[in-house]
Amino acid sequence: MSIANLLEVRNLRVWFPIRRLFKEPLFVRAVDGVSFDLRRGETLAIVGESGCGKTTLGKACLRLVEPTSGSILYDGRDITSIPDKELKWYRREAQIIYQDPFSSLNPFFTVYKILEEPLIVNEVGDDRSELVYKALEDVKLTPIEEFVGKYPHMLSGGQRQRVAIARALILKPRFVVADEPVSMLDVSVRVEILYLLKELQERYGIAFLYITHDIATVKYFSDRIGVMYAGNFVESGLIKTVVSDPLHPYTKALIEAIPDPDPKNRFVERKVVAGEPPNPIDIPPGCRFHPRCPYAMPVCREREPILGEVEKDRYVACWLYDR
Ligand code: SF4
Repeated sequence: MSIANLLEVRNLRVWFPIRRLFKEPLFVRAVDGVSFDLRRGETLAIVGESGCGKTTLGKACLRLVEPTSGSILYDGRDITSIPDKELKWYRREAQIIYQDPFSSLNPFFTVYKILEEPLIVNEVGDDRSELVYKALEDVKLTPIEEFVGKYPHMLSGGQRQRVAIARALILKPRFVVADEPVSMLDVSVRVEILYLLKELQERYGIAFLYITHDIATVKYFSDRIGVMYAGNFVESGLIKTVVSDPLHPYTKALIEAIPDPDPKNRFVERKVVAGEPPNPIDIPPGCRFHPRCPYAMPVCREREPILGEVEKDRYVACWLYDR
């Protein structure tokens, strides 16, 4: 394992069986052969349409869902082969920020109790109030005295998500999955929260998997990107190269669909990728994207392209870039 990598995921599959009477089970192939590295202290954005498997991938990396096959090396240890009851150390090291802060926070707990709970469960800290106050200061919920006694329903959406971030970071994890952390917030606070995550990442050296359907937000909070389609990556690389010069037809379509912020161009029709993603029970043979791809060739219907390096740190799975 490279010393620069905190996480190395190889050929990861998460298939959910659908049992049928007197018939072989069918499988929902939510994650279907994904490989990637996450370097220490960086953010890798995982982008794709809803249902592409990105949330399942994030949860599998935390062992919140069981992988079907493949490996996940965290700091050199394969966490897929460790029994659940021996993963307590990993539950401290690796945390998640959920999309909906309202349902992820206990409505009967005050902000103080929400933040104190993980410290108690993990037996951390002699002076827990000091850690709680520091966590609130980190997420800029000040004056702190005003917030500690409040319940989640007394906070705005942005303030609730700051509490959820404080709770995720209070145990000083080195790896965090941020699953659509701003998609339920007002547009006006989304960038603020992403910049806050960036600032905390720089301060504490956390590696993030930033899961989002909104490719327009990745530039605020990511170093590299993996574009996911029907359970697997179709393109990955540095944000600045992939977003400014996408190679895979699906990545191109996602980028062309980003609304133009210039009000003059408000009524210019945006191109959207035609058709629907495939049913994960019945993924098409060959290239998974071929039924929707305007460049599909005969080979695309027969043979699956694999993710290969087309230039340094740039990977694409498409026969147009056959190597
Ligand atoms: Fe399109 Fe073929 Fe490339 Fe798939 S492999 S994205 S169908 S050109």
